Amino acid sequence: MTDSALVVFSGGQDSTTCLYWAIDRFGDGNVSCVTFDYGQRHRVELQCARSIAEFASVPQVELPIDTFAALGGDSLTDPGIDVAAQSDGEAGLPNTFVPGRNLIFLTFAAALAYQRGVGNIVTGVAETDYSGYPDCREQTLQKLQRTLQLGMESDVRIHAPLMHLSKKQTVELARDLGAMPAMAMTHTCYNGLRPPCGSCAACELRAKGFTEAGVHDPLLDL
Ligand code: ZN
Repeated sequence: MTDSALVVFSGGQDSTTCLYWAIDRFGDGNVSCVTFDYGQRHRVELQCARSIAEFASVPQVELPIDTFAALGGDSLTDPGIDVAAQSDGEAGLPNTFVPGRNLIFLTFAAALAYQRGVGNIVTGVAETDYSGYPDCREQTLQKLQRTLQLGMESDVRIHAPLMHLSKKQTVELARDLGAMPAMAMTHTCYNGLRPPCGSCAACELRAKGFTEAGVHDPLLDL
């Protein structure tokens, strides 16, 4: 295992911040990223991820996972479910929750990291400010890391640099890491719009973070 890192990269605000965090932490040339095509309705996400990876000169692997769309039941993959109809899922979770998604992503990322001798995985999940997704909790990641280490006989580590940051702090971190030019190329909107719709939960959360940090969101200049 080398001291290099694989970033789970969606092309969104948080994973873009993580991409720059990883470059800063592990060094230019020691970072690669993996983007999952899980049947997301908003294909613009994949295009954003490709553009940002190229812009940041980070090698990217795109992996298909068809199963989530086949399972259905969430508004990110199922066009029959309205993203605006919040909190209609199990345990009051919003319908944007894709059960098992982060667990599967991190497991495939660990498998790819194993094959390539990469010792670190970086993910943009966070406990704070979010919709309460249980697979974004620190405890979930700690247990999954242990399971992956045991299951792959490796010492792979999962890093979640945004875990305890508010959206405001995440914006400040992105600014300090020089990630703002790439932020203009990110995608956040649950309605798949660029420029963003400004009124969905994801857009509102993003706007709140930038406003509180006193930083202009370059995405709004599109
Ligand atoms: Zn939106």
